[in-house]
Amino acid sequence: MEKYLSQLNEAQLEPTIQIDGPMIVIAGAGSGKTRVLTYRIAYMMSKGIDAFNILSLTFTNKAAREMKERIATIVGASEAKNLWMGTFHSVFAKILRIEADRLGYPSNFTIYDTQDSDRLIASIIKEMGLDKDIYKYKQVRSRISSYKNSLITVRAYFQNPELKEADAMARRPRMGDIYKEYVERCFKAGAMDFDDLLLKTNELLTRFPEVLAKYQNRFKYILVDEYQDTNHSQYLIVRALSDKFQNICVVGDDAQSIYAFRGANINNILNFQKDYDDVKVFRLEQNYRSTKNIVNAANSIIDKNQTKLDKIVWTANDEGPKIKVNRSLTDGDEGRYVASTIFETKMQNQLMHSDFAILYRTNAQSRSIEDALRKRDIPYRIYGGLSFYQRKEIKDVLSYLRLIINPADEEALKRVINFPPRGIGQTTVDKLIVSANGYNRTMFEVMKNIDKADVKINSGTKTKLQDFVTLVESYQVLNQTADVFELAEHVTRTSGLIKEFNKDGTPEGVTRMENIEELLNGMKDFVEGQKEIADTTGSLAEFLEDVALATDLDADKGDTNHVALMTIHLAKGLEFPYVYIVGLEEDLFPSAMSMNTRSELEEERRLFYVALTRAEKQAYLTYALSRYRWGKLVDSEPSRFIEEIDEQYLEILTPIEERRFNPMLDADIFGDVKQDVEPNKIRYKPAKQPVLKKGAAKKAPEKFQVTTPKKLKPVVNTNGNTNLFDSKLVVGNIVKHLRFGTGEVLKIEGTGADIKAEINFQHGGVKKLLLRFAKLEVV
Ligand code: ATP
Ligand code: MG
Repeated sequence: MEKYLSQLNEAQLEPTIQIDGPMIVIAGAGSGKTRVLTYRIAYMMSKGIDAFNILSLTFTNKAAREMKERIATIVGASEAKNLWMGTFHSVFAKILRIEADRLGYPSNFTIYDTQDSDRLIASIIKEMGLDKDIYKYKQVRSRISSYKNSLITVRAYFQNPELKEADAMARRPRMGDIYKEYVERCFKAGAMDFDDLLLKTNELLTRFPEVLAKYQNRFKYILVDEYQDTNHSQYLIVRALSDKFQNICVVGDDAQSIYAFRGANINNILNFQKDYDDVKVFRLEQNYRSTKNIVNAANSIIDKNQTKLDKIVWTANDEGPKIKVNRSLTDGDEGRYVASTIFETKMQNQLMHSDFAILYRTNAQSRSIEDALRKRDIPYRIYGGLSFYQRKEIKDVLSYLRLIINPADEEALKRVINFPPRGIGQTTVDKLIVSANGYNRTMFEVMKNIDKADVKINSGTKTKLQDFVTLVESYQVLNQTADVFELAEHVTRTSGLIKEFNKDGTPEGVTRMENIEELLNGMKDFVEGQKEIADTTGSLAEFLEDVALATDLDADKGDTNHVALMTIHLAKGLEFPYVYIVGLEEDLFPSAMSMNTRSELEEERRLFYVALTRAEKQAYLTYALSRYRWGKLVDSEPSRFIEEIDEQYLEILTPIEERRFNPMLDADIFGDVKQDVEPNKIRYKPAKQPVLKKGAAKKAPEKFQVTTPKKLKPVVNTNGNTNLFDSKLVVGNIVKHLRFGTGEVLKIEGTGADIKAEINFQHGGVKKLLLRFAKLEVV
C-alpha cells in the first residue's frame, strides 16, 4: 500500500480508495474530511487517472492551493499542476472565458467585484430618480444576488407576479426595473458579477448540450468540499456535470452549514442520497484536531439543534484544559483580557503569535480587540476586511488595467476618467452615460466618437475626452509587447497616479505609495512564474482574473506570525491551537437579527459549533456586561450558548479586576486600566471624575450610577466565584443586580451550577437569571 495512505485511519481509508460512483462523507468537525479529499485525489492519480479529468471544488482558493501543494508532495508538482482546483467562482470563470462568445460575452469580460456592483446599482438608483433611503443599494444588491442564485432571470422575474408583489410590499416596487437595468448595463460593459459566474455557467450548461457534454467528459471525477454550504446555483452545476459518469464525491457536515443567509441550502447535503443512485455513505467519527474537552463541549452544543443528522464525534486526544469563560465589564475590558492572556500564554508556552485566533460574530467587534492588542504590541491581522485589491489606490491602478483589456468596462472607466483630475467633471460623465444608454453604445465608444456624438459638451472638454481615449489606446498597444509588471509600471507613471499619491505627503499618502509598490512587486512575482503550482502563462487578463476573485485569505504571504482576527464565517475549515470566541452575548451572538425563527437560531448555533471546533488545545469564551454598539453603551447578557455547554467542560473565571474592586461600591467603574502593568497587577486608576469613552453621554448611564449604600458586601469572593454560586438564596429575598437594580426572588430552580432564579426587578420586570453568571447581592 502507498505510504501516504498509512496516514489515514481505517474509516478514512475506505472513502479515499473508493473511486467510482456517487459517494458522500458526512462527518463532524476535525474528523479529516478535507484530508480524505486530498489523499483521494493523490490516490486516484497514482491509479492512473489523468489529472485533467479531476475537478475539485473548495470553499476558498487558499484551501485549494494548500490541497494542491499537499498532493504535489505525493504525486509530484508537474502532475498536480494539471488539476482543476479552486472555488466554484474561480473554476467556472475559467470555463466561461473559454465559452463566453456563446453567451454574447467577450472572452476578456471583466469580473465586477462587490464594490463595482454597489457603485453601479447606486448610480442606477440615482439615474432613475429613486429615493436612496428606500432603495438602499446594498439591500438592492443582495436582493438581486438572491434572484440570481435562485436562477431567477430578469425575464423570470417579470413573469412571476408574486416576486413583484413581494418587492412592492417591501416598498420597492421598482426593484424589477433596477434588476433589468443592472443586468443590461453589466452585459453592455462586458462584465459579470460574482453571481453571474454561477448563473451564466448554468445557462451555458443548459442551453448548449454540446458544451455540457464536453465538460462532462472532461471532468469524469468531481469532488466537493464543504458541500453543506453550496447554494442552489452551485448545486445545479455539480448535478449537471456529474450526471453522465456519476463519479461524484462530496464531503460535508450538516452541523457546519452557516451560509443560509447567502442562499446556501442545507438540504443539498441532506438530500444527496436521493439525488443519485446507489450512493455510498461514509462516516468518520474520530476527531484529530481538538482536545476531549473541546470535542465534548461542541457535541453538547450541537445536541440542542433539532434539525440535524445524528453523528458521533470522539477523540483520542488529551482531555486538555477546560474551556475558559470570562466575563468583562465592558468591551474594552474584554479586549484587554484577550490581549493579556495571549501575552501570558505565549510567553509561558513559547508559542508563536500565529497559534492564536480571535473569532467574532461581526466585523465591528474587532475594534476594541485591536486597541488592546496594539497597546501590548501584539502583531495581528484582520482577515475579511477589504481585500488588498479593493483598496482605493490599488483599484485605481487596476481600473486602468481593466480598461486596457476591456474598454467597455463602465465601472473602471468612471473610476479613472477623472482620476488623477484632468478636468472632466461629473456633468460630462452624466452626459456620456445618457448618450451611451440612448444609443446602446458603451461610454468609451461615445468618447471615441465624441465629434459625431449628439452630446452637448464644449470643445475644450471634448479634447480632454479624446486625450483620455488616446492614453488608454496607447496602453493597449503597449500591452501587446510588455508584461503585466512593465505595463503597470508605465501606467502608474504616465497616468499621473504616482504623482497624485506622492504629492499628498500625509501618512495615508505614504501608505498608498507603499501599497502600489507592493502591487508592482506582486506583478513581478506573477510574471516570473513564481507560482509554481499555478497553471498560468502570466498574461494581464489572467492577472486581473486572479485578483478579481482574490480574498484577503489568499494574500497571506510574507510575515505570517500574527494573531488572526476574523469572523466565524471566514474561519470555516481552519484550525488554530488557541481560539478566543469573543462577544458571546445575547443579541450579538446569537445575533438579534437571527432569533426570529427556530431555523435562524439553529444556524446561529451551528455557527457557534464551527467557532468552537476551530480550537485545537484551548478555547476561551468571553463576554462583556456592556458594550459600545453604534456609538452607544448598551447592556448585554451572556449568550445562551454559554449556558448550553455542559458545565463540566467549562471553567468559569471572574475577571481579575472584579476581584479587586466592586463596581457597585466604587465609581471607578469608568476608570481606565493602566496598560503598563502586568495583568495580575491590573488596577483601576483612581479616577475622581468618571472617564467616559468618546461618544458616550456626558452623564454616566443610569444603571451605573452609584446609588448603592457603601455597606454592601463585595459581590464576589476572592476565589472568583460569585457568592451565590452555591448560595442559600430563598424565595422572598430582596436582591440587588448590577444592572437591573433591586428585585424580589420569585422562584428558584435547578441545582449546582444550573441554579436559576426568577426575580421581579423594579426596573426591567421579571427575569430568569443563571446564578453562576448573574452578580446578585442579598440586600
Ligand atoms: P472541518 O469540518 O473543520 O473542515 P475536517 O473534517 O475537514 O474538518 P481536517 O481538516 O481534514 O478535518 O482534519 C483535521 C485535523 O486533523 C487536521 O490537522 C488533519 O491534518 C488532522 N488529521 C486528520 N486525519 C488524521 C489522521 N488520520 N492522523 C493524524 N492527523 C489527522
Ligand atoms: Mg475541512
